[in-house]
Amino acid sequence: MDDQIERVMVITAHPDDSEFGAGGTIARMVKEGREVSYVIATRGDKGSGDRTMTPERLAVIRAEEQHNAARALGVAHVEFLGYPDGELEDTRQLRLDVTREIRRRRPDLVITMNPHRTYNLYASHRDHRTIAGVALDCVYPSARDHMAFPELMPDFEPHKVREIYLMQWEDPHVVVDITDVMDLKLKALTCHVSQVGDFTGVEARVRERNAELGRAKGYAYAECFDRIVMPR
Ligand SMILES: [Zn+2]
Repeated sequence: MDDQIERVMVITAHPDDSEFGAGGTIARMVKEGREVSYVIATRGDKGSGDRTMTPERLAVIRAEEQHNAARALGVAHVEFLGYPDGELEDTRQLRLDVTREIRRRRPDLVITMNPHRTYNLYASHRDHRTIAGVALDCVYPSARDHMAFPELMPDFEPHKVREIYLMQWEDPHVVVDITDVMDLKLKALTCHVSQVGDFTGVEARVRERNAELGRAKGYAYAECFDRIVMPR
């Protein structure tokens, strides 16, 4: 990876999205000395099969689990935007919030989800598509242009992101070898206790998935992305 990438921002919809989609890549980047921060759009407050659970209680649990997972990977900052799970819409307020976070942390690389509907219904959850589209719209043009969201000035100066990675599982541009950090990815995933339940089944699925993504390159485990390099 480009040595000029010093700061990385991972923008996702729910607590646990970063670890499932990019936990190994994040662990690698932290080991390489890059500063990684998270922006998570929703509270993840609907993902429970427990009929006695309430969205308010679940939001608190999921925030704590996310902080633990981020700590396991060495992520420096975690910001929750506080939107309700499952109802994320591409609004001016969401674009303003994401633009503000990009301008605050000034990442060289933004990692986000996949903006396309695919037949993998879990991976292409509506909130995932929405946050990915919004993240792209905020990298360009709103984070870059000083007249976009004038209320952010002068506290949040414009910022140019250099590159974007989009989580991609079909014909990806970039295959990241995560073999050496697979243990860290799994450790971070175990922090999402309310989501993973019995971890044995989850671990088997994650290993199988990441092994499949690495097969073409001969890596034991990999995560895959499409890459956009912004013109300077
Ligand atoms: Zn999700």
